[in-house]
Amino acid sequence: MARATAAYYATKNPFRDFTTAPEISQIFGELLGAWAATVWQQIGRPKPFLLTEAGPGRGTLMRDARRATSRVAPDFHAAARVNFIETSPRLRAIQRDAVPDAIWHDDLSEIPPGQLILLANEFLDALPIRQFVRAGGTWQERYVHDGVFVLQRAAAPAPSTAAPVGTIREQGDAACAWTKTLAARLVAQGGAALILDYGPARSGPGDSLQALRSGHPADPLADPGTADLTAHVDFQAVAEVASAEGAARWGPLPQGEFLARLGLLPRVAALASCNPDGAAAIRDGAHRLAAPSRMGQLFKALAITHPAAPPPPGFEA
Ligand code: SAH
Repeated sequence: MARATAAYYATKNPFRDFTTAPEISQIFGELLGAWAATVWQQIGRPKPFLLTEAGPGRGTLMRDARRATSRVAPDFHAAARVNFIETSPRLRAIQRDAVPDAIWHDDLSEIPPGQLILLANEFLDALPIRQFVRAGGTWQERYVHDGVFVLQRAAAPAPSTAAPVGTIREQGDAACAWTKTLAARLVAQGGAALILDYGPARSGPGDSLQALRSGHPADPLADPGTADLTAHVDFQAVAEVASAEGAARWGPLPQGEFLARLGLLPRVAALASCNPDGAAAIRDGAHRLAAPSRMGQLFKALAITHPAAPPPPGFEA
């Protein structure tokens, strides 16, 4: 899955295959920019600080966040050093057009030391998962061999509980390892992270591996590297990793509720009144992001902070 995904992002234009929140509405990046500016005040207005995004795609979220804060939060804007974590050279070139002053890294471990405010939208879902299948009295792991799935006896997923034959359990080892590195860094050096993605708030069984080609579901094993491969993020597992590292975790909250708490509706009203001709499209974009039947319920927002930090915006009791 890792190799297919790396090949896919290196050679394809993913935004022909799927649409993400920042591409749906500028309000998404604007609200996340305001989130970051408030967190920056909460952590003592460090100058400079690392405004980091993992998997920035086309750079739209950061471009909108930067634009939205340049006038209303000039000190935050001036103190931010934009750092992108991106492995695809193709997408780096597109990001350079959107955010020319960014600095690029292949991995979180390469970000220079300092207080970090990190945003990650639809990043963890692209990291590889493992799948376990309950067979008789044991668990077996699903592997890909010569283009088909094969089952092999393997160490059981944790926690290893009995389940009906055929039950599939997923384990996002890569997402958890990444979160562990992130949380350890926030505990040691300070800062906060906001992770938005799709997946359940509580761990559960099920096969969420999905391939999308031109917006349509595809066979995940057909033509590796030509379709977008993702899996649901297990937010319970990710949050537990952060807690185990000593970080504070906030949420997960459904994306619709989180965006509403950040002021989605007043922002929609303000934009619509400046642009009456575009008002219907503005409202439609906000609806796609926040309605429970669209992205508002399946998508979640989870924040991870230094343990002494106050609740970040949107996560207050
Ligand atoms: N956040 C963007 C893009 C989501 S697509 C948006 O919301 O529109 C996933 C992004 O993560 C792409 O930019 C992809 O190139 C990047 N990516 C995927 N796997 C990665 C990895 N292992 N390391 C760094 N970046 C990765």
